[in-house]
Amino acid sequence: MNYNTILQEVFQEVKTLPTIGNVSTSIPELTKVDPDKFGIHLITIGGEDFGIGDSNEKFSIQSVSKALTVALAFSFLDEKIWERVGVEPSGSAFNSLVQLEYEKGIPRNPFINAGALVIADMLVTHLKNPKEDLLDFIRMISGSPTIDFNLKVAQSEKETRFRNAALANFLKSFGNIENDVETVLDFYFHQCSIEMTCKELAHSFFFFANEGITKSGKQVLTKSQVKRLNALMQTCGFYDESGEFTYKVGLPGKSGIGGGIAALYPKKFVVATWSPRLNEKGNSELGMNTLELLTTKTGMSIF
Ligand code: GLU
Repeated sequence: MNYNTILQEVFQEVKTLPTIGNVSTSIPELTKVDPDKFGIHLITIGGEDFGIGDSNEKFSIQSVSKALTVALAFSFLDEKIWERVGVEPSGSAFNSLVQLEYEKGIPRNPFINAGALVIADMLVTHLKNPKEDLLDFIRMISGSPTIDFNLKVAQSEKETRFRNAALANFLKSFGNIENDVETVLDFYFHQCSIEMTCKELAHSFFFFANEGITKSGKQVLTKSQVKRLNALMQTCGFYDESGEFTYKVGLPGKSGIGGGIAALYPKKFVVATWSPRLNEKGNSELGMNTLELLTTKTGMSIF
């Protein structure tokens, strides 16, 4: 498989598509991003790297971080995490409050904001220095010691936190947040503010494609745990567009409102895309087009 040629073709083809969508407006700091940035990076399971466009520029990974925090929580709490968060697609917006009322404070899955806040709470409880330890974990799995929070983005999110604060308080009222609400929110805003390049993001997700083992050879999850998280990404990783993404792309992955997407084909490759223009559901328009074309041209979707 000549990934280099395929990436070039996909990149050129996608660039000719009509410009649709705009950058997220929910976090003021993110509106400053150039909407026309576009990068792709693919790493094969053998460790070969292929990058194109703005693939070496940092961007805000936002909700893509939810796949990494749930992996970290899963690594030390194992199946216990499912006592406090479910594994069902939500079919609702990522920041919806309604389902929580019916589900008695148990979020549908760890990728909607309510679920990610419960996972954040678990990490705040179990990590000694939660924010630093999360960064260390991400630096370790990515092999990139310079990965960091963007404090301006974290602050911007804090200043406009009303909906996430409502979710966290609502969860607390059901007893599904153990720590101080503001501490959990602070951790969550920092995790969302993490910046990575497409290359760093693809490397961070390597263990999801490699039976739980990072590119540097460290086993962070078991083969079975990774199978479960990949299944969750497949069914819940793209907000209320997860069915559409599965239909068009056919790879497990996770998106974020910074315009990033990480997706993977187990035992074959990990691919990360970044294009900040979002469609109505909050997924990167060009990112989705890119991955659809990639799986079509390579013939490599998991289905
Ligand atoms: N930090 C964002 C929020 O909580 C993440 C949203 C996303 O990327 O889906 O609203």
